[in-house]
Amino acid sequence: MARFELVIFDNDGVLVDSEPIANQVLADLLTGYGWPTTFQDSVNTYLGGTLQHVRDLVEPQLGRPLPADFEDQYHERLFARIETELTAVPGVADALDRIDLPTCVASSGSHPRIERTLKTVGLYDRFAGRIFSADDVTRGKPFPDLFLYAAEQSGSAPDRCVVIEDSPYGVAAGKAAGMTVIGYAGVTPADRLQDADVIIAAMTELLPELDRLASR
Ligand SMILES: [Mg+2]
Repeated sequence: MARFELVIFDNDGVLVDSEPIANQVLADLLTGYGWPTTFQDSVNTYLGGTLQHVRDLVEPQLGRPLPADFEDQYHERLFARIETELTAVPGVADALDRIDLPTCVASSGSHPRIERTLKTVGLYDRFAGRIFSADDVTRGKPFPDLFLYAAEQSGSAPDRCVVIEDSPYGVAAGKAAGMTVIGYAGVTPADRLQDADVIIAAMTELLPELDRLASR
């Protein structure tokens, strides 16, 4: 793995298996605000983006702003369900045990959300001090800013970084940053991650793919 210096993990859907919960919470909230949205609508349209991006997409079509407490409502409902339902993505703890490269987290979620979810599944201590949020930069995914910031803070050149992502926005952000991108097709259909350098369907494939990419 000589070529790579840093492995950047997305959080939601890659470390913590939060997307089934988060997309149901978002769909229910938007529907309650008068913008009917199914779970699959939410996966297809919003997965991997920020809540600001949800506002930017919904408000022009709805013809009025979403409530001022939209973000608070979302986090309140999400955290309540995470406490009892959230698990780590299958196989990711074992993959982290075996990676012999520096790692970090770069997530569209807020810092409190990232910390809360990682602590709930027991992965927080592995990344403490190496967690980067869309809150830290002006433009979130699909812009490259967050990944470039994570690389800079870690002292690695972008072309020495590998990004693990489960959303089209995240894949786009990683490629725009000039990084190698591994797409994880967990909840997201693989064909929506086709811009990634490789796509894996299970975390058991992560280490073999890192080795293969490093040697090509
Ligand atoms: Mg994700």
